Amino acid sequence: MIETAIYIHIPFCDHKCIYCDFYSIITYENITNYLSVLKKEIANYATQFAHQRKIISIFFGGGTPSLMEAGYIGEIIEEVKRKFSVNDDAEITLETNPGTVTKQKLSEFKNAGINRISVGIQSFDETDLKFLTRIHDSETAKQTIRDAYEVGFENLSLDLIFNLPNQTKEKWKKNLEEAIKLPIKHISAYSLILEQGTILNKMVLDGKVKMQDIEHDADLYEFTIDFLTSNGFEQYEVSNFAKPGFQCVHNNAYWHYKEYLSFGTSAHSFANGKRWWNLSSTRFYIDAMNKKGNAVAGEETLTQDQMLDEYVMLALRSSGLDLDILEHKFENNWYERNKSTIDEYIAQELISLTNGKLVLTAKGFVVCDELLLHFR
Ligand code: SF4
Repeated sequence: MIETAIYIHIPFCDHKCIYCDFYSIITYENITNYLSVLKKEIANYATQFAHQRKIISIFFGGGTPSLMEAGYIGEIIEEVKRKFSVNDDAEITLETNPGTVTKQKLSEFKNAGINRISVGIQSFDETDLKFLTRIHDSETAKQTIRDAYEVGFENLSLDLIFNLPNQTKEKWKKNLEEAIKLPIKHISAYSLILEQGTILNKMVLDGKVKMQDIEHDADLYEFTIDFLTSNGFEQYEVSNFAKPGFQCVHNNAYWHYKEYLSFGTSAHSFANGKRWWNLSSTRFYIDAMNKKGNAVAGEETLTQDQMLDEYVMLALRSSGLDLDILEHKFENNWYERNKSTIDEYIAQELISLTNGKLVLTAKGFVVCDELLLHFR
């Protein structure tokens, strides 16, 4: 059986945050149509892909999936379970924004089949939250986590963003301190990235906002690794930290180069050596699904070399590169070709080689992108 992850994109949002480049819309007129074509897409793909696959995770991302009623999410889960073979212990995650859920609604999500909540908090600092144009304040964010815990969600994650304009190390430290006081098992900590086409990008171009430099970014990142690893979280990917036993199955599917099927507007899939992606407009997605039963906007077949590069990059960004598995999968002499670079990185304590596995050190994670450029 091929272990496969499923991603469902729910594009609806309350408003557009200034830094966001995810596909999202703030009109709700197509919510009902969207549900029916999502179910159609799931059923159509199942005829082609359900055979010999075990679904290990279902992840509702967005957008703001927690804006939907629990019944809406429940119908999608049921459809996936009807059409695919879903593991009994599959991880089923709902991205949740504070300010969109009550304790009662969280309980309903649990009854609908959700077993992991990932809360988009971004910061516990009121000034940062206002700057990021989030709809919630710090107390609402904390209460969302407490409510989720109290209704029985043990597997709780939160997202934070660092290197915000004017964010000092002291301010960032306070964020991390607030985070670990909460009953969470997982933290994703991302550096603020200036994405083209966002409102923030325009603000920077217009000189209204000044981004911080990369040295400060690296300093905050190093501090994050130190702080979280000394407080019971293990780093299992560049930006992700978990208490033992709570690594995100869905994220690991991407990083361990497992296959994934994705449904909804702008969703990307990867299976059978091919990658394809859906139309990036909810209206066009719905039209295409109704007219021809799929909404694929483009696809590519990966060459062995592309797959090798991606495999190496994803493994090194996460739990490490097992050289035996690599050789077995690709038979490409990758290690021999890169031995001198690896030896240099080992000497600089950027990477370690233990029992045939290459793993980035904390120092290596800080310069991960730069390191990866030198492998061939
Ligand atoms: S809530 Fe999330 S998806 Fe929606 S605009 Fe804000 S960052 Fe983007």
